[in-house]
Amino acid sequence: MRRGKAARERAPTAERETQQYTVINPATEQPVTAVAQASGPETDEAIARAAAAQQAWRDVSPGDRGRLLRSFAAEVDAHIDELAALEVAGSGHPVGAARWEAGQVRDVLMYYAAAPERLIGKQIPVAGGLDVTFAEPLGVVGLIVPWNFPMPILSWGMAPALAAGNAVIAKPAQMTPLTAIRIGELALAAGLPEHVLQVLPGKGGVVGQRLVDHPAVRKIVFTGSTEVGQQIMAGCARHVKRVTLELGGKSANIVFADADIERAAATAPYAVFDNAGQDCCARSRILVEAGVLDRFMELLEPAVKGIRVGDPAAEGTEMGPLISAAHREHVASYVPEGAPVAFLGSAPEGPGFWYPPTVLAPVATDDRAYTEEIFGPVVTVTPFSDEAEAIALANDTPYGLSGSIWTGNVGRAIRVARGVETGNLSVNSHSSVRYWTPFGGFKQSGLGRELGPDALDAFTETKNVFIATQE
Ligand code: NAD
Repeated sequence: MRRGKAARERAPTAERETQQYTVINPATEQPVTAVAQASGPETDEAIARAAAAQQAWRDVSPGDRGRLLRSFAAEVDAHIDELAALEVAGSGHPVGAARWEAGQVRDVLMYYAAAPERLIGKQIPVAGGLDVTFAEPLGVVGLIVPWNFPMPILSWGMAPALAAGNAVIAKPAQMTPLTAIRIGELALAAGLPEHVLQVLPGKGGVVGQRLVDHPAVRKIVFTGSTEVGQQIMAGCARHVKRVTLELGGKSANIVFADADIERAAATAPYAVFDNAGQDCCARSRILVEAGVLDRFMELLEPAVKGIRVGDPAAEGTEMGPLISAAHREHVASYVPEGAPVAFLGSAPEGPGFWYPPTVLAPVATDDRAYTEEIFGPVVTVTPFSDEAEAIALANDTPYGLSGSIWTGNVGRAIRVARGVETGNLSVNSHSSVRYWTPFGGFKQSGLGRELGPDALDAFTETKNVFIATQE
């Protein structure tokens, strides 16, 4: 009995012990820096500070909120190279891509800086009075961010949530916290009031879980694996907490015989090997109309072998390493001895979590390389016979995030685009994410949409007010 009591008394101190996480450079395997991990009680304290700060933030006038977000964007813009260098060191992203990602944070902030002054309600005709709607902020919003695109994904939740008058607590992934921490500092330098944006590095099961469980957090925006997303949705259900989920993908790149096959083959590697395939939108299943399969493969091989894989700090590098040794092992498990490797790209020797671009063909449609999200530079190529089969193959997955359609026939492009069950499609292109258009998944790829002109709907509640005019 007494031992039990003593253990209970000690628990708060043990829970508070600051733990450190050492960030590793994935290209060198060398430590970059150690980052203090927030505990459960520290997360609770941050939530209390956020709730208090939000009361004042929601009352900042729309014009001033917009101005502060523009200053925040300007601070990010002035630190693009620094942020990019942090992402190169901490995540192994090629420096050109990392600069683009930091630029996206600036652009998303600028886009939503215009929103506070446009958060317009409705005036609805009613008898006996005036009826108006208000878009009220939710309160404290928890953002749980994955390791694959630490900067853009942070900004997609952060910017519209702040614009709508919410306070934000962002939990970066344990492996990649450095840019989020710096962005939090830049927000303060830009003049954002303290605690309106807090960045809390830590474990998913501690900080993330607390954000989900704490009743004062009114919304969770989670981007990550479908498995963890399902747990988060269940956790949010206990409080009827609002939730946006951006989860996994296994998207199809459908190439019809009437397409520009040269362009389709030249661009296909970049649609899957970008960020070393650690991309929820990766077109990791290439489906090719049978009549042009041989020609497509002939053209794909030099395109794959031509990808510049190497030191992410070097200008011109197109693909860096995977995030960790454990993830490389996971990716490699999809290419066992005897796997049908059609051809490989290159990868450096020596330290670093390298994995070469890998093309598997022919692959059975029940092979786990074909059915599961690999999240690495491995793509399958599968032939199809006609439009109906192409759509059926594309849809034969629990996911539905992105995809591409290559064809010279406009009618077919529209028919197939309407037939494929996925949130983001591109025709004769592989673009997925523009911050001014909506982004999100069908089926188990997610719930809700981010970005675009309607993003503030996901960070506000509609309040209807009737005012009687009759005495
Ligand atoms: P993950 O699910 O392991 O982790 C994501 C985040 O959740 C991390 O911050 C992690 O610490 C946290 N977390 C883990 N367990 C938690 C818990 N019990 N409670 C609360 N938070 C918890 O995913 P990952 O490996 O970091 O990212 C890769 C996955 O993310 C892939 O499946 C990828 O497809 C997906 N993703 C989706 C999108 C999209 O927009 N749909 C974008 C990027 C990545």
